[in-house]
Amino acid sequence: MCGIIGFIGEDNASDILIKGLKALEYRGYDSSGVALGDDGKPKIIKSAGRISVLEEKLASASLPVFHRGIAHTRWATHGGVSDLNSHPHSSDSLSLVHNGIIENYYELESMLRSEGYTFSSETDTEAALMLIDYEYRRLHDPEKAIFKAISGIRGSFAFAIIFNDVKEKIYAVRRQSPLIAAHTNKGSFIASDVTALLPYTKDIYRPEDDVLIILSKDKTEFKNKNGDAVYPISEHVDWNEEEAQKGGFPHFMLKEISEIPDSVRKTVSSYLADGIPYFDAASLKEDNVLNIGRIHVSACGTAMHAGLIGKRLIEELAHIPVNIETASEFRCRSQILDKRDLMIVLSQSGETADTLSSLAYAKERGVNTLAIVNVFGSSIARSADDVIYTKAGPEIAVASTKAYTVQCAVLALIALHLARIKKRMTADEVRTHTILLSSSLPSAIEKVISESDGIKDAANDICNAEHLFFIGRGSDSDVCAEGSLKLKEISYIHSEAYPAGELKHGTISLISDGIPVIACACNEDTCDKMISSIREVRSRGARVTVLTTNKLAKSHAFPCDRIITVDDEGGPYTFLTAASAMQLLAYHASAKKGLDVDKPRNLAKSVTVE
Ligand code: GLU
Repeated sequence: MCGIIGFIGEDNASDILIKGLKALEYRGYDSSGVALGDDGKPKIIKSAGRISVLEEKLASASLPVFHRGIAHTRWATHGGVSDLNSHPHSSDSLSLVHNGIIENYYELESMLRSEGYTFSSETDTEAALMLIDYEYRRLHDPEKAIFKAISGIRGSFAFAIIFNDVKEKIYAVRRQSPLIAAHTNKGSFIASDVTALLPYTKDIYRPEDDVLIILSKDKTEFKNKNGDAVYPISEHVDWNEEEAQKGGFPHFMLKEISEIPDSVRKTVSSYLADGIPYFDAASLKEDNVLNIGRIHVSACGTAMHAGLIGKRLIEELAHIPVNIETASEFRCRSQILDKRDLMIVLSQSGETADTLSSLAYAKERGVNTLAIVNVFGSSIARSADDVIYTKAGPEIAVASTKAYTVQCAVLALIALHLARIKKRMTADEVRTHTILLSSSLPSAIEKVISESDGIKDAANDICNAEHLFFIGRGSDSDVCAEGSLKLKEISYIHSEAYPAGELKHGTISLISDGIPVIACACNEDTCDKMISSIREVRSRGARVTVLTTNKLAKSHAFPCDRIITVDDEGGPYTFLTAASAMQLLAYHASAKKGLDVDKPRNLAKSVTVE
């Protein structure tokens, strides 16, 4: 959500900033802007809409080459989407970009108004800008002014700041919002995430909250509020620039779906020793596992749907009760947490603010926390007691696909690990499952991807629908929840996912002539009941597409208008093969409608506000 990039050094700052903003585009935004200048008040160019609009404005401004600048993509939280509300914002003494939310902006504005300040935008950001300006006028020292100002701010922020009368420096600071820094022989950089810096370096710093970053051409410094130098650990990122590019695919989403098989292989094999799951995480060591009372899972959106799979597998295989709750609700009620419990949080970016909050809630109550995230060193990874990384590589499309599948795969490994320790499965039984996960499942998904014409046809059928239903039973019902979310996110078709047996308790009143229903029936045990549910909706006029396995399609006569089959090599994990088919269905429906598949309206990739 929102992107920041800043650069000072040898090269043309404008080029670096625009390239960086484009790399950060996937995070979601509605406006963008830059502040460029080596001395005095920087030139500010900003605009609502796509970065291409900003580029046009920049081209017509014919600015000279500058070597210092800060830039921003905004995802509006306070104030409408407009040129005026776009960042950077500036006062008489500084210009600033901000990611996050200033919770006490109203209080700050009132105080500042009484000091004679006026405000021209509707953003919360301007309160922070003017507060730093106010402190700078009093203290005449940029570092002290920033520290004093942030001590009075509540909320989340990543700021990048240029002072008009401080040449050759950019200042930056973060609290709960992501910001990384890097120094190369070209100069110093800050960015919201590593994808923007991959063309220049893979060695980055992740400063802690409230550490001031001071960028100059020759060095990048970090200071704490006492003015002492601090040294964040440098990280080497093993992603490469090509991974963050489309590589010949029309959309990142399609490329990322095609990467699912390898991501699953890579993730699963990283956590196997002698064919059985092996984790360094202290909370998963044998003694601790035997002591676990209950597991809590908290996540948002797609990661929450992976959590549903985790609950099902952990309860079925390991017989440990699992409480699952969407992260934005987790701390809205008093949770029954015990010190013997384990809290698992899931997030692709590792920056999801709601998830970070539920993690903090559990930690405050002394519960052990385990994070499953895709981004190394991200805030959630650093806050949790233990972390397991999914190995999906960069995921750029806003709609998550490969990250979901590998989150499910990791949860399956955890369920198997717990089941073995609790002696509910033997090591050999577990080994049979890990072979399915590491080898058979990825090859089944590969076939779905390479033989996707049937899915494309089904997408053409549904792409003009206004409403649609997904139904399934058991784990098929959990993946229906994700299939429905994917379709809503990128094709803007209203869809609902229901456990098939639940329809008749209310929702079946919405089934009328021609309503498309996707019925997922990949599980032999529930197949007959699914056929009954399909008959119920068909007799009320629904057009049914059945998603099932090749084997079940042969052994069962599905009453339907269309059938999509997948391979069942993945055994009990075949629901994940079906999930890839649903991801492709959503993709083709969106592409057919000519929508912006990778950047759906109103959505952001990394949701860094609560
Ligand atoms: N809250 C600020 C605004 O609405 C920053 C939003 C963002 O993170 O992009 O302008």
